[in-house]
Amino acid sequence: MSKTLSGGCLCGAVRFTAEPANREIGACHCGMCRKWTAGPFLVIDCGDTLKLGDGAQVGVYRSSEWAERCFCKQCGTPLFYRLVGQNMHFVSAEAFDDRSGYALTSQVFIDEKPSYYDFANKTQNMTGAEVFAAFAPPDTGQAKE
Ligand SMILES: [Zn+2]
Ligand SMILES: [Zn+2]
Repeated sequence: MSKTLSGGCLCGAVRFTAEPANREIGACHCGMCRKWTAGPFLVIDCGDTLKLGDGAQVGVYRSSEWAERCFCKQCGTPLFYRLVGQNMHFVSAEAFDDRSGYALTSQVFIDEKPSYYDFANKTQNMTGAEVFAAFAPPDTGQAKE
C-alpha cells in the first residue's frame, strides 16, 4: 500500500502531499538538473499523486519542449520536474519531510556526471541516450531534457 507523504519548500510557501508507488530514489546527473539544483537531482517518482496545498506559490520554468521545472516563487527551492501533457511528477527527494525507508536505486545521465563525485550505492545506471531510447516518445527525434 502506498502511504501519503508530505513535504514543502524551504520557506513553507509551498506544501504538498504525494503517494509514491515505491520506496526508490533516482538521481539525475544531466547538466540541466545540476545547474538547477546545484548538484545531482534526487527524485521520487510520484506519478499522478502530487497534490499541492492551498495557495502554493509555484513557479514554472519550461526547460524543454517536453518538460517543466517547478519551484517555490518565494524561496526558489527546486520542487519537481514534470512531463508536459502527462500527469507525471518527479519530486525532489529532499523536499519531503521524511524519506525513511527509501533507498537510492537508480542513476540516469550517468555519462554527464562530473568526475569530481561518485555515489557508492549499488544502482541501476543509464546514459542519456539510453534514457531517451527508453522513455522519449518515438516521434520527437531531437528530444532533449
Ligand atoms: Zn518557499
Ligand atoms: Zn536531469
